[in-house]
Amino acid sequence: MPLPTRPMPTDPAARVAELRAALDDANYRYYVLDDPTLEDAAYDRMLRELTELEAAHPELASPDSPTQRVGAAPSTLFAEVRHEFPMLSLGNAFGHDELREFDARVRKGLGLGADDPAVVYVCELKIDGLAISLRYDGRSFVRGATRGDGSTGEDVTPNLRTVRAIPLRLRDDPPGETLEVRGEVFMPRGAFVALNEQLEREGKPLYANARNTAAGTVRQKAPAVTAGRRLSVWTYQVVGVPGLASHSESLKLMRELGFPVNPHARRVEGVDAVIEYVEEWAEARKDLDYETDGIVIKVDSVEQEQTLGFVSRAPRWATAYKFPAQQVTTKLEEIEVYVGRTGALTPVAHVTPIVVGGTTVRNATLHNIDEIRRKDLRVGDTVVLQRAGDVIPEVVSAVLDARDGSETVWEMPSACPVCGTAAVREEGEVVWRCPNPWCPAQRIGGLLHFTGRGGMDIEGAGYAVVNQLAERELLREPADIFRLEVETFEGLDRYARKSAENLFAAIQGARRRPLARILNSLGIRHVGEQTAIDLGNWLTRETTRLDGEDEAAWTRRVADRLCDASAEELTAVFGIGKVVAEGIAGYFADEHTRATLQHLLDAGVVAEAPEPGATVEASEGPLAGKTLVVTGTLAGFSREGAEDAIRSAGGHAGGSVSAKTDYLVVGEKAGSKLGRAEKLGVPVLDEEAFRRLLDGGGA
Ligand code: NAD
Repeated sequence: MPLPTRPMPTDPAARVAELRAALDDANYRYYVLDDPTLEDAAYDRMLRELTELEAAHPELASPDSPTQRVGAAPSTLFAEVRHEFPMLSLGNAFGHDELREFDARVRKGLGLGADDPAVVYVCELKIDGLAISLRYDGRSFVRGATRGDGSTGEDVTPNLRTVRAIPLRLRDDPPGETLEVRGEVFMPRGAFVALNEQLEREGKPLYANARNTAAGTVRQKAPAVTAGRRLSVWTYQVVGVPGLASHSESLKLMRELGFPVNPHARRVEGVDAVIEYVEEWAEARKDLDYETDGIVIKVDSVEQEQTLGFVSRAPRWATAYKFPAQQVTTKLEEIEVYVGRTGALTPVAHVTPIVVGGTTVRNATLHNIDEIRRKDLRVGDTVVLQRAGDVIPEVVSAVLDARDGSETVWEMPSACPVCGTAAVREEGEVVWRCPNPWCPAQRIGGLLHFTGRGGMDIEGAGYAVVNQLAERELLREPADIFRLEVETFEGLDRYARKSAENLFAAIQGARRRPLARILNSLGIRHVGEQTAIDLGNWLTRETTRLDGEDEAAWTRRVADRLCDASAEELTAVFGIGKVVAEGIAGYFADEHTRATLQHLLDAGVVAEAPEPGATVEASEGPLAGKTLVVTGTLAGFSREGAEDAIRSAGGHAGGSVSAKTDYLVVGEKAGSKLGRAEKLGVPVLDEEAFRRLLDGGGA
């Protein structure tokens, strides 16, 4: 949520700073993490506002503003590739008027008057993927790179070699000794849906949309992963080939050499024909097997292109028309509550099925009851549903005019819909929870957490397996999994002898894990990976391994120490705050927990022990040495929870803003601390940026 929600500051410098921070943050998430949290339309709106402000206040311009830069710096995972000719972004146009303005600018730049002929353009679909550059020596493909920040990209040759649409050898000799072609690599919708279905079967987290999945797949460290996913490419540009008179000629050349060129590119005369093309594809694109987010309009003549030239980050001879975010209206039929691993009750909207962006949508998340109240959504309402790319659909608002009085205000159920235990909502939290640790929904969630990557990491023990085992009462608690035989797995749906043996072997290999992982796998509330590490380090320091002591014996002593630890003792542990400490002490004081732990030890689970006599240093954490102050109300943390999170990440949670404060974390209704931070120049983080910092992602 980097979109600032506070009223717009009247001071343009402050607004410019705010927009730059939000856009930098969005760029990082989009280009580096492949995990945006902002809708593209919102991003575009902010970029537009910043561009306009900078134009109106030239004194505020800055070379490192997001308006001056393309993409983001390449990551250090790959070798760097310097682009001989920069890979630029595109200016954009929203609506017909802006297309006409673009045409007017082009005509003006070319010195054309009202009586001169129309400009010839090529219209192309704007593929929503990742820009890449492909280099050929003679006929051979030698190097593939990402765009990166436009001047330096990442060398992803081995990954791109696995993409079938990229010719490894050209059908004909290129015009020069070397050739560079640019295009967009993307994941077809069908492949994306199939990938998510597979992940769902394996009980793994799903990908949000095809664009980010494609970007993440191209930037994989293991080419085998890239190869296993059906990526494809459309190419749309050749670089540095002299003698080509027009863009349409270069498309023709690429086709002849064997490159995949999108068949829907069309040469048109004048802006009216451009608008016709845009309108035609606004609907037709929904039937394509790939995502498009606009239309690229390019001046066809190379000579005219050269006359027009470039502005800082984009050519003057082309623009990207952006389709508006896809919104549809449908009926909110019912609201159902889902129960997560931690017992969190999440309301989900069931709507009359409707096709948005080529996919049938039946459900949309409603986040929590406060969100439902804020939007005043009622069961039976006609609602506006929005979906950009393949992002999870969201209910934007209710259509108030469509109400006929039959709509009903929805209440959060007072009990867990799965086990019937009365739901609770802790002070300062927005989320209602089922407090029953034996709730079946939580149990499955907990078991999956135990077998999952952050836990014991048992390959193959995903949702399908865990769910079947739990249903057959073969898996009631984590330790049970270590007692199951190959034959049991063979009896599961879609399990043959070989896969059963593999799963069995994976389970046997998962008995020994680092202490922090074992602690994390238990799914103790408030204890994430970092706290598990802090707790593990403390336990290891407290329990020096004795001479001749084996790992099993050491693990038992560690478990005893943990069960004996008081909340006061734990509060003193580096990285653990009061709330978390109380949570941990309470958890291990519980009889059931102790039994669960005992059963794990009896099943042969051991922690990787240090050498006898060895000591362990205190953990560092992503906020080590940093002081953060929290102000206002955060959506996902209570005040104490946020401060705990800071401590867990190795930081110091301060009470007031001073020159020594590194960051001020700001929620809704921030008070005087915000003003003071701004005066002192203390960087301000919204909740999203704060979370990223906690995750070790930097501010
Ligand atoms: P752009 O949308 O400004 O357009 C340039 C890119 O279009 C090229 O680099 C190329 O990759 C692509 N393209 C696709 N088909 C093409 C064709 N036929 N011809 C030429 N180019 C084609 O791209 P950008 O500079 O990468 O990114 C800006 C856009 O990315 C924003 O407008 C926004 O929608 C999105 N974005 C979103 C977030 C977010 O947080 N949601 C963050 C950063 C960027």
